[in-house]
Amino acid sequence: MATTRDASGQLSIGGLPLSAIHVPTPFYCYDVDAIVEEARALDAAFENAPHLVAYAVKANTAGTIVRAIAGVGCGADVVSGSELAVALGCGITPEKIVYSGVAKRDDELDFALSCEGRGICAIQVESVEEATRVADRAEKKGIKARVSFRLNPELETIDTHAHIATGHDEAKFGIAAADIERAVAAVRSRSADVELVGLTSHVGSQLTSTDEYIAGAKALFGLARKLTDAGIFVPRFLDAGGGFGIDYGSGCPVTPADFVKAARVVQREAGFVDVPLFVEPGRSLVAAHGVLVSRVIQPKVTGERRWLVIDAGMNDLIRPALYQARHRIVEVDTDSSKRTTAWRVVGPVCESSDDFGVYDLPEKPPVMVAVLDAGAYGFTMASQYNGRAIPSEVFVRGGKVASTSEGPSREDWLVRRLRA
Ligand SMILES: *Cc1c(COP(=O)(O)O)cnc(C)c1O
Repeated sequence: MATTRDASGQLSIGGLPLSAIHVPTPFYCYDVDAIVEEARALDAAFENAPHLVAYAVKANTAGTIVRAIAGVGCGADVVSGSELAVALGCGITPEKIVYSGVAKRDDELDFALSCEGRGICAIQVESVEEATRVADRAEKKGIKARVSFRLNPELETIDTHAHIATGHDEAKFGIAAADIERAVAAVRSRSADVELVGLTSHVGSQLTSTDEYIAGAKALFGLARKLTDAGIFVPRFLDAGGGFGIDYGSGCPVTPADFVKAARVVQREAGFVDVPLFVEPGRSLVAAHGVLVSRVIQPKVTGERRWLVIDAGMNDLIRPALYQARHRIVEVDTDSSKRTTAWRVVGPVCESSDDFGVYDLPEKPPVMVAVLDAGAYGFTMASQYNGRAIPSEVFVRGGKVASTSEGPSREDWLVRRLRA
């Protein structure tokens, strides 16, 4: 966790007391040094084996963070042309970028195929239809596209929230095993335009055990073995995906490095030690190293019910409303002698789901609270619903505010709405 509490009860992030940051609330604050350390630790889990940590940029697209992760040698997994532009703009070379997602538009495919004159490492194709579309775009450009197939491992149970499980047969993601033969045929029939260079799989997010990851890796490496033995391709990389869980307060017995180690075992058993192993972590690199800081607007007490109304809502952090996610919420300044009570913490947005859950917080409402572990899928999912601002972001390095970034304000929102 990026936050610590000093002897006087002040909550700090990256060594900087949050109360020393004078930015209008709500705002996100990140410990960039801890993110760098997180990326280094994951990289180390590969020892000297050929690999690529392709950071799933959708978890947090802030330039300061993407540049810091790129500085450790990581690449990127992107899911849109805009994210591809962020990765390139942060200095990640096309060779270190893969592009996933079920719905890539023609203009996005064109960009990926030819960025910086050579195109990205591979477009991760998610359907037979897409393989043909990529071939068509490459043919138009007179180039040969590099693709990997995203295998849907069709796992029956994935121990994560249904909305973030992707590797089951009803998910829109990936190519079913039954369709791989057709996908191979589609690529072979267009061998002048497209080449199969890798295989990938991603079973879901917030996995708190390596079991499903290993099952997904077994399906992936098993398919790689089959296609290699049949002389259909020589893999230039095999990508086991992301999804490494973090501890949001209820525990996570495995570390990101455990997932890498587990995938490496499956890789070795399948006889692919020399093939670069890719992983695509998003959440695990950034989640624990960001907080959402919010001011308490007022308490609301009626009979036995006690709500703590804060100025951050589901538009700032949608995970609780979208996935029933629970984050820890703590006061920014604590006096441990204060009596605590159970508060239902809610935001200002006019939706009943704008509710963070019940937390033990001081009976006398605190001035400020921090929502912990908010570094991933927080800011990137923010919206201006209810005419709210997009939260600011504060980047801490070396115990100091290195930079801040402001999102569109309520005034920007008003101008755009009046023009509409
Ligand atoms: C979102 C996503 C990831 C990252 O998932 P995390 O749970 O954040 O690690 C990796 N690969 C693909 C294809 C994704 O869509």
